[in-house]
Amino acid sequence: MSKINIVLYNLIHLNFLNISYLTFTFLLSLSIALLVTTLLLSLDHNGITADNADNANAVKHHNHNHEQDSKSHTEHKIILESNLPHSSSSSSSPDISDSNFAISNNSNNTKAAIINFDDGSMGQYTYAKPILDKFGLKATFFIVCNYANSSKDSYMNWQEITQLQNDGMDIESHSMNHKDLTTLSIADLDYEIGQSKQCLLNQGINENISKGSIFAYPGHQGANDPTIVNTVAKYYNTARSGDIPLQFLNVPSNRYALAGINVALETQIDKNTKSFNDFQTSLDKFINLVNSQNKYNKNGQINTIPVIVYHKIDYKSNNDPGVSVTNPDLFDAEMKYLHDNDFKIFTMTNLKYNESNGSIYLDNIPGSIA
Ligand SMILES: [Zn+2]
Repeated sequence: MSKINIVLYNLIHLNFLNISYLTFTFLLSLSIALLVTTLLLSLDHNGITADNADNANAVKHHNHNHEQDSKSHTEHKIILESNLPHSSSSSSSPDISDSNFAISNNSNNTKAAIINFDDGSMGQYTYAKPILDKFGLKATFFIVCNYANSSKDSYMNWQEITQLQNDGMDIESHSMNHKDLTTLSIADLDYEIGQSKQCLLNQGINENISKGSIFAYPGHQGANDPTIVNTVAKYYNTARSGDIPLQFLNVPSNRYALAGINVALETQIDKNTKSFNDFQTSLDKFINLVNSQNKYNKNGQINTIPVIVYHKIDYKSNNDPGVSVTNPDLFDAEMKYLHDNDFKIFTMTNLKYNESNGSIYLDNIPGSIA
């Protein structure tokens, strides 16, 4: 054998060894990955992994994926793969043939939400209303009486508010002038709280409800103050606060401190830097917020419901993180998410108080005005 032949032989031999080593390593890795996936799938199917938590996890892992968390990327990917068939089957919405999904009755679906708008700003009519209509969603609008009386372009007038009511929206009270109730005299409290109910009645709103109407504390202040709560209790059946995301149902609850969370502050602003999140981050945080109910709602039972509160809906740029303005395109994406994932949408009037056991319950007609 010539020298050249020997060199060639060695080269081929080494190459061959090298390839077979790589192939062996690859096959071994593949086997381990398959084993892990099979194990995770079998755990899931045995019901050891909670069904509803899966969706939340899938969303969380999905978000991590977005952020390209390289450290645990592979780990997330494996868990995602095992969750994907499950989450996609429960989050798809094959039944939606019409846009009015809010009254569809899928007994296994436990995803629900209540959409609120505070203050009666104009963009709620100009931008939010057509989007709600497009997806067949109903919402509750808390109106400040003298804002509506003001004839300012930045607020809805009574004609527009009446139109909302005629189109099936829920209209409720948010005081006369949006003052900080904790600073007022008893007489002023009575006026701000009681007169705003009368103000709606004078406009033909909630005429048929004797004591079933709802109050929202201006600036979310007052739910802890007995004097304010006693005044609210004189006129209203329930009242909404502003810093609680989930309303728990069928357990003893404070009827004058119903849940509500400011979506803009909670999802569109970075709590540490106080800077604005980008579109996708805001949407991801919204998705996490509305899915925070998943771990409590199981076996077709709605035990808790998120109450999401919007303020201004507007394209106008806003440099003050304290002012809650939601971009209409983001609002559209958020409503699309609720629609496409078959969330049952209720209004605040669906939150009823059970006098006998002191709990809040959800009457079972989503979107109806009770
Ligand atoms: Zn307000």
